[in-house]
Amino acid sequence: MIKIINQINGSQNSRYLNLEIGTKKLATPTYFPSISSASTRMPYSSTIRTLVTSEYPQLLVSCYDLYELEKDKEIIQYVKEHFEKKNLLFIDSGEFERYWFKKSDWNFEKYKKIVETFNSDFFASYDIIPTTPNKFEDVITLTIQKTEASFDLIKNNYCITIFHGSSPRELCELIENVLSSNKEFFGMISVAERECGKMIEDKIKTVQKIRGILKQKSPDTILHILGCGNPLSIVLLTFAGADSFDSFDWNRWIIDKKTMQFNDFANLSLLDCTCKGCHSKNRDPREKAMLHNLIFYQNFMYRLQRSIIDNESISTVLGEFVGPKNLSKIASFFNS
Ligand SMILES: [Zn+2]
Repeated sequence: MIKIINQINGSQNSRYLNLEIGTKKLATPTYFPSISSASTRMPYSSTIRTLVTSEYPQLLVSCYDLYELEKDKEIIQYVKEHFEKKNLLFIDSGEFERYWFKKSDWNFEKYKKIVETFNSDFFASYDIIPTTPNKFEDVITLTIQKTEASFDLIKNNYCITIFHGSSPRELCELIENVLSSNKEFFGMISVAERECGKMIEDKIKTVQKIRGILKQKSPDTILHILGCGNPLSIVLLTFAGADSFDSFDWNRWIIDKKTMQFNDFANLSLLDCTCKGCHSKNRDPREKAMLHNLIFYQNFMYRLQRSIIDNESISTVLGEFVGPKNLSKIASFFNS
């Protein structure tokens, strides 16, 4: 179970949490590198090998991929090894892959099979991305039904409730409604970054609104943002009230740590980087790029945690990366 050992509130809605998850520990804000068959540019096996051998302490994989890759002993062994090494494992529901692959045969029974087969620190609840307009009452009922079924199944591990909305407004209303009747679903919740709005200013407002709803009735709730790996977005959404993030950006682009911008894998040598990943020997250059990114995220999240503990403002955190014009724009996103 998740226990908050220490909490320090920083500027705006930012907060530093020191958590105990069973016998493991986690400090937030945090970033889970995710691997998905729907997005990886490298073979799944070399992506997971790079992550697990790098000893990055967190990993997100999906039930869908574990179901499809069940016979690939090497991949399954890496997932188990990661969990057993006392690192944190987050197994997502599989809805993202079902949605992108347009697979109509992904269902609760398959999800159940993976939940019952694997040990994990976190399992996402079984969820459905809305594709056709539903009556809002039906969305609430369906979300509660699927979450209840997931919580019943995931008794010995931790279940993260996933919320989907066809608009940011519906997403917030859904969270507010479910919170009023089912507070037990609110240890840790998750929303997709893309459903929080089209532009960063919309996403900030949505995350602020969600944190505002949680502050009223469930202030300890940990808020995870699915599919958010842009370093600038991570900073802004942390100050808006999010605690945790994941994305597969780390296995698709390289991050230029001087600018916090993504660049093509092929341009790694142009970054002129001196990190351990870039200087590792006998590796595929793309594996070096992934290691470079993992080192970046680990240092970056640690630096963000320190900024919150030291009560630094967004301007102080971002000052070296964005110019004065953008800093005043960002200030307006938070003040309007
Ligand atoms: Zn590097």
